[in-house]
Amino acid sequence: MTIDRIRDAILSGATGDELASIPLPTTVRGAMVYARDVDMFDGMPTHEKDPRRSMHVDEFPLPELAPDECYVAVMASSINFNTVWSSIFEPLPTFGFLKRYAKESVWGKRHDQPWHVLGSDAAGVVLRTGSSVRRFKPGDAVTVHANVVDDQEPSAHDDSMLASNQRAWGFETNFGGLAEIAVVKANQLMPKPEHLTWEEAAVNTLTAATSYRMLVSHNGAHMTQGQVVLIWGASGGIGSYACQFVLNGGGIPVAVVSSERKAALVRDMGVEYVIDRKAEGYRFWDENGEQDPSEWKRFGKRIRELAGTDPDIVFEHPGRDTLGASVFVVKRGGLVITCAATTGYKLEFDARYLWMNLKTIKGCHFANYREAEEANRLACEGRIYPTLSRVYPLDRVADATYEVHQNRHEGKLGVLVLAPEEGLGVTDPVKRAVNLDKITLFRRHADERVHAPAHA
Ligand code: NDP
Repeated sequence: MTIDRIRDAILSGATGDELASIPLPTTVRGAMVYARDVDMFDGMPTHEKDPRRSMHVDEFPLPELAPDECYVAVMASSINFNTVWSSIFEPLPTFGFLKRYAKESVWGKRHDQPWHVLGSDAAGVVLRTGSSVRRFKPGDAVTVHANVVDDQEPSAHDDSMLASNQRAWGFETNFGGLAEIAVVKANQLMPKPEHLTWEEAAVNTLTAATSYRMLVSHNGAHMTQGQVVLIWGASGGIGSYACQFVLNGGGIPVAVVSSERKAALVRDMGVEYVIDRKAEGYRFWDENGEQDPSEWKRFGKRIRELAGTDPDIVFEHPGRDTLGASVFVVKRGGLVITCAATTGYKLEFDARYLWMNLKTIKGCHFANYREAEEANRLACEGRIYPTLSRVYPLDRVADATYEVHQNRHEGKLGVLVLAPEEGLGVTDPVKRAVNLDKITLFRRHADERVHAPAHA
């Protein structure tokens, strides 16, 4: 099979010219959902919708390449929460996005299929470039960020996240990263960190860039030294990078997690102040479906006990379960920055605390090319490390998605696509050795859990 020739050529260090001379297969394998299945979970509560029923690894035809696009041989990819959303068809089936894309141009039309190849992260090797691609060439090792930007769209040219037709690759487009060959725009490509394996390099791009924009960028909170940042889900995908950016920038993280195991993990990341929300039993919503301000107060008191002050910034994404508390606890004049509402998007908070205390809630979404590139540069320099805890083969991608949906994971779950095993792809072993403790932190914690005695 040709895909095996491509894989073998990459593994044996073939040059770009050699790679470019290997004929491409007409079909490749990828993780997909089908339009025919979008009703399969109707009437079920969200947590019972099982990605293992809806996700399949099947062959699909490779589309023709547009002039500004590349084919990337995907060595590894990752699970993002948007993979969960696509696989359970919530809040909407993603096929509507593909239909909208189809109306835009002849190239957009390729995306409208009765199947949707998912995945918003990838690390791999450029195989072919379209005629207008300049910065990258066949043979380049790359990571891929998920912002699909239309450079002919005027609204994309201040901050591309404000573009009226901005799209998330592998979620609002087809041909995503959970496939042997992905189709990406050239401006999604970034250099792969040389000291990381394929699977380590693959897990950073979406979540690290999102957290970078939320906390570091002037488009987000633009955190300054000494600011206290409350981080929900601090050991999760975006939270684990949020912890790193706050620590790197001289901020003071207050990490919220839901188990002692996760608390130990974020402490090992260097976070001093940790709240185990389960152990401390916060119930922001009572049994009558009303929010309980006395619980917000108890939570705020705990943050003050730890950090000595109210948080300047709240890194918010659980949504319905937590936004009321986030608005209450953030400092007078402070900022709640949010990119999601995992527990429900119909949100409630007491607006009196917002206006009387001059607080702000700010929406944030992924990252523009510059922000993604900055986050990737920090990863290349070893200043941000991957929070990879587990690796799955492509054939078990649905199991990995299920784990994330059930909140049974820490950090990020990687997916091996063309890479035949873990540990490959490192071209700077010296830098790796220097950073090894951090790079393997989440992995070691996950391994300890597996090997811990059952009663522990
Ligand atoms: P993860 O599942 O990896 O992490 C989410 C964390 O949220 C968990 O670790 C969990 O931590 C915490 N959490 C879950 N339920 C609750 C709850 N009821 N109360 C408080 N905390 C809770 O997901 P990601 O970090 O990758 O993504 C988080 C959200 O952000 C998703 O909805 C995702 O779609 C969205 N997102 C949006 C982006 C954008 O561009 N707009 C980009 C990336 C992600 P614990 O149980 O330990 O408290």
